[in-house]
Amino acid sequence: MEKIPVTRQNSDEIDKFLDGAASFADMMFGFLDGSNESEENFLDLDEDAKDDEDLSQVEQNKIFWEAQEQLLQATLYRTTSLESRIRQATKEALRELDVMGVQCACRRPVAGGCRNCLQRELSIRLQNVGFNCYICRSKWRSSPEIPSGEHTYLEVLDKSNPKKGEVRVVIELNFRAEFEMARANEDYNKLIARLPELLVGKAERLEALIKILCAAAKKCMKEKNMHLAPWRKHKYMQAKWLGTFERTTPAPLRVGYSDRPQKPKSSMLTFDLLENLPALHCTAVEVVW
Ligand SMILES: [Zn+2]
Repeated sequence: MEKIPVTRQNSDEIDKFLDGAASFADMMFGFLDGSNESEENFLDLDEDAKDDEDLSQVEQNKIFWEAQEQLLQATLYRTTSLESRIRQATKEALRELDVMGVQCACRRPVAGGCRNCLQRELSIRLQNVGFNCYICRSKWRSSPEIPSGEHTYLEVLDKSNPKKGEVRVVIELNFRAEFEMARANEDYNKLIARLPELLVGKAERLEALIKILCAAAKKCMKEKNMHLAPWRKHKYMQAKWLGTFERTTPAPLRVGYSDRPQKPKSSMLTFDLLENLPALHCTAVEVVW
């Protein structure tokens, strides 16, 4: 097999390749986008043919899981220098915060800091070392396929390369946990074990990962003759990180940072006032309590 040297220049090509590879897997196994036709066909199989079918099914399953594992490895390890720099800075900031401890400045303080307060502190630290870091809150309505929900995560918007335009890098602190399933099979668990808990990746990479992981979850439940929970569906996972979202920038606890938008957009204020306000304001609110 020909080796492709991984450099910044061809990372776009790699992304295209990855996207193509994931699409190829979709085509081969046809597991995405909620069509139940193949499941029905599978259940309608003639009993006489069942033994032969079982054998080839085992083979097919093996091919599927091997392919998913290879796709996952390729998608995780081909990373750009921008992603590496952000990952490095994030890990350093998390180490610092771990030593210092996060003080909750929200309405529901948790010993050691809640996810929201940790994300706020982390985003401030990443801003301080020069990254354009935001807190994103996605929110989606229910549809016949998926229930409504919301999710918060961080992102860095990089505009340093005019040729590439705006590059969106997502920071998810609990990526592996988002895909863990209590009743999964061994193949699925093996795949999930390869995921980092902290994911720092371009939106395109995240999209490719979600495709692979959701196809795997669907396949896993099919093998176990169980229904895939709606919040495990591809559409739901896409809505979490790649759907509509609101950006906010938490204000650092020092004055004189006027070149960034400090106020959340008005639509944000309607659904969660306190958590999106700068830490300073939250502290003031807590004093009143
Ligand atoms: Zn908190």
